Amino acid sequence: MEMLKKRIVEQAKVLGPDILKVDMFLNHMIDISLLKAIGEEFHRRFADEKINKILTVEASGIAVACMTAIAFGVPVVFAKKEEHSNVGGLCYTSDIYSFTRNIKTTICVSSSYLCASDRVLILDDFLANGSALTGLIDIARQAGSTLVGAGIVIEKGFQGGGNALRESGVRIESLAYIESMDDGIIVFG
Ligand code: 5GP
Repeated sequence: MEMLKKRIVEQAKVLGPDILKVDMFLNHMIDISLLKAIGEEFHRRFADEKINKILTVEASGIAVACMTAIAFGVPVVFAKKEEHSNVGGLCYTSDIYSFTRNIKTTICVSSSYLCASDRVLILDDFLANGSALTGLIDIARQAGSTLVGAGIVIEKGFQGGGNALRESGVRIESLAYIESMDDGIIVFG
């Protein structure tokens, strides 16, 4: 998605070998017109899939999921992280590891909000090693839902998570695919 790549080149900051900071349009201040275009692009790519629910994980996936959900006209369910979880009742849970924060977290979704008749699109802001996406896929499968695919705003391909999941048969659509960021130079795939 050219508009997004242009924004990354102009404003994103590369931190260390593998972290991209996009606080100025996605992760702290949110550019709503960019997010609206992102939501419309995910809708264009998955329009024929009869999606009836979007699944993401708090916190930074929520804005992307909500803007996309407007384009589809479907609800968003976001997995809660253990530390703020007050879900109660039966929950689907999965453990994910955050390499940006170096912590393991349990994420959970109430069984009231995800079920076997759902056709689910998973969305997230970043895909790196694939732990967050794997956890969300695990939750969708526990619910017996049909996983239509995953939409990712920025995939860092050099961390390998996306390609491993594609090989296992998951459809992943990334709007910006970063092949490398060596020496702070962003190269798109
Ligand atoms: P993974 O689980 O695929 O290793 O990492 C994906 C999750 O970690 C995303 O939900 C995202 O919030 C966070 N993340 C991974 N890489 C980056 C990055 O370069 N920048 C930011 N801001 N978040 C990242």
